[in-house]
Amino acid sequence: MKKIAIIGGGISGLAAAFYLEKARRGGAQLDYQLFEASPRLGGTLYSEHHPDFLLELGADSFLTEKPWARDLAREAGIEDQIIGSNNAARQTYVLLGGQLRPLPPGLQFIVPASAEAQQSEFFSDAARAQFARERQLPPRSHPENEDESAASFVLRHFGEEVLENLAAPMLAGVYGGEPEQLSARAVMPKLVEAEALHGSLSRAFGTRPAAAQSQPIFSAFKGGMQQLVEAVTKQLRGDAIHLDRRVQSLSRESAGWKLVAGSSAGAFDAVILALPAYAAAQLLTEKNVTPSGARRGGRSRGATPWVE
Ligand SMILES: Cc1cc2nc3c(=O)[nH]c(=O)nc-3n(C[C@H](O)[C@H](O)[C@H](O)COP(=O)(O)OP(=O)(O)OC[C@H]3O[C@@H](n4cnc5c(N)ncnc54)[C@H](O)[C@@H]3O)c2cc1C
Repeated sequence: MKKIAIIGGGISGLAAAFYLEKARRGGAQLDYQLFEASPRLGGTLYSEHHPDFLLELGADSFLTEKPWARDLAREAGIEDQIIGSNNAARQTYVLLGGQLRPLPPGLQFIVPASAEAQQSEFFSDAARAQFARERQLPPRSHPENEDESAASFVLRHFGEEVLENLAAPMLAGVYGGEPEQLSARAVMPKLVEAEALHGSLSRAFGTRPAAAQSQPIFSAFKGGMQQLVEAVTKQLRGDAIHLDRRVQSLSRESAGWKLVAGSSAGAFDAVILALPAYAAAQLLTEKNVTPSGARRGGRSRGATPWVE
C-alpha cells in the first residue's frame, strides 16, 4: 500500500486528493492523507453569500479555454452549475492620470488585434506608429529553455506606453506581480507561440476566426467558486482530511518521507506539495531535501513563476 501525503488543502491539494481517491476506488493500492494548516478547505477560493449578492474573496472565475477546472467540475458532478461571463457587459478600465479609462474594443489581452484598437484614442500617436511597425515583425522562435520577462517581450512588440498603460496593470490584476519579474513563457504562452509562428502579434490575432473569440472568456459556478471546493470535498474520505494541521517539517528518510504536523509525525512514500512557492520553500530548506528549484522558490513572492 503506497502512502501519500498531500500538503495544502486549496484547490490544488483537493484536486490531487480527488484523483487519488478516484484511483483508490478503482482498485489502486494507495492511501492518502491531506494536511491543511487552516480550519477550512479551499485556500484562496472562498465565496461569501450575502442576501443580494455573492462575494468572491479570491478567484472569481477560471479561463474557459483551459479545460482542467471544467473537467474537475464534471467529474465532481457540478458541470451543470458552470456559468459563462457575459462578454457584452464586460468592460475593463485602467486608472491613468487619476482617471478611469475604458480599454478600447478589439484588444485581445494586450494585443491591439483590430484596426479599431490600433487607431483608438486610448493610445498616443507614437504608440499607434509602433503598431504599424509591429505588423512587419517576422516570426521569431526561441529555444525551449530560453525565456525573457513579460516586460521585455511587450517592449519588443509594442513599446513603453503599452507596457506601462496596458500590460503592467493587466498582468498585475491577474498575477499580482511586476512585468519585469514575470516569465513571458509562463504568463503569456499564447503570445510567445504566436510570435514564433507569425512574428507580429497584431497580425496573428487579427486573423483569428471570430468563432474562436465568441465563447465566454471566463467561467464560474452559480454558487461561487467555493462550490467546486465543496463538490470535490464531498467525494473525499473524511478521515483522510486533517484541518488545523500545519506541516512544520518534511525530511527525506531512506525509504520515503517523514512529515511532522503539530505533535504528530508520519511516514509517507510520496509527498505532494500543493502550496504557494514561499510556503513550499519553507519545507524544502532541510539539508536532506534538495529538489531543484527549492532555493529559487525561497526567493520568489508567490505561486507565480518568476524570472530571476
Ligand atoms: C485575490 C485573488 C484573486 C484571484 N483570482 C483568480 C481568478 O479569477 N482566476 C484564477 O484562475 N485564479 C485566480 N487567483 C489565483 C488562484 O486563486 C490560485 O492560483 C489558486 O486558488 C491556488 O490554489 P492552490 O491550492 O494552489 O493554493 P492555495 O489556495 O494558496 O492553497 C494552499 C493551502 O495550503 C495551506 N498551507 C500553507 N502552508 C501549509 C503548511 N505548512 N501545512 C499545511 N497547509 C499549508 C494554506 O492554508 C492553503 O489553504 C486569484 C488569487 C487571489 C489571491
